[in-house]
Amino acid sequence: MPNLLEGKTALILGVANKWSLAYAIAQAYRREGAKLVLTYQAERIKVTVEELGQSLGADKVFQCDVTKEEELGRLTSELRNDGGLDTVMHSIAFANREDLDRPFLETSRAGYLLAQEVSAYSLVAVARATAPLMPSGGSLLTLTYLGSQRVLPNYNVMGVAKAALEATVRYLASDLGPKKIRVNAISAGPVKTASARAIKDFSVILDVVTQRAPLRRNTEPAEVGDAAVFLASDLSRGVTGNIIYVDSGFHIMGL
Ligand code: NAP
Repeated sequence: MPNLLEGKTALILGVANKWSLAYAIAQAYRREGAKLVLTYQAERIKVTVEELGQSLGADKVFQCDVTKEEELGRLTSELRNDGGLDTVMHSIAFANREDLDRPFLETSRAGYLLAQEVSAYSLVAVARATAPLMPSGGSLLTLTYLGSQRVLPNYNVMGVAKAALEATVRYLASDLGPKKIRVNAISAGPVKTASARAIKDFSVILDVVTQRAPLRRNTEPAEVGDAAVFLASDLSRGVTGNIIYVDSGFHIMGL
């Protein structure tokens, strides 16, 4: 079978370290022949992400904090000069640790707005910055979690942000469909990453999944990477506005 992403350029936002889901996605995209562009949030992880980019054979590594319009604007102009994009992976979320540790009822206004801004609104901002770089169509992807639909212990404000993110996927899919840009999300099963470690008692969720998921195991980052290859490739040309679960089937269980 030919490489599924040969000739395509992929922008991946959210590689922080080699445990990041975005890193597994970048590996899968590279394996399938994509040219990679990576971004990192801030100077503090510049060196790490540049080294990871080098090991992946990435063409470019940029700083881009998705809460800063000027950094998104710079990303657009740099990439426009480089011939545009075919696919974008938004793998970004943030909430204050205390909001993943205390009753949801105690969520502060500032903590709620911060989680929404970084984890949901940023998809709108990224879509606006990158859609002009996909003049003949493309694929925009994001990562979500079951906590958007069901109550999971301590996921709290992030569950509400993921619900907004999933609705954002549908509205963007409707707006961008006429431009042949597809918008989808992967709802990944729990994986121990830096972000996941901020959720109190996260290992309890991992244990429950191994006991109750139809496949009786947790999600491998590489499985998320392979689903992302499908959604970035022409194999998914008729798929938009979807949330695809890559979670060993856990989401179908009632008990
Ligand atoms: P991760 O490695 O910590 O990735 C989160 C990324 O978001 C980091 O690269 C982080 O950068 C970046 N980020 C935060 N604020 C940002 C900003 N203002 N601008 C740009 N980047 C920013 O954790 P992950 O688990 O792979 O998370 C990736 C995505 O998968 C998230 O949307 C998460 O909710 C989702 N997801 C994770 C799981 C799971 O169990 N791990 C399950 C389902 C969905 P810094 O590190 O520099 O802050």
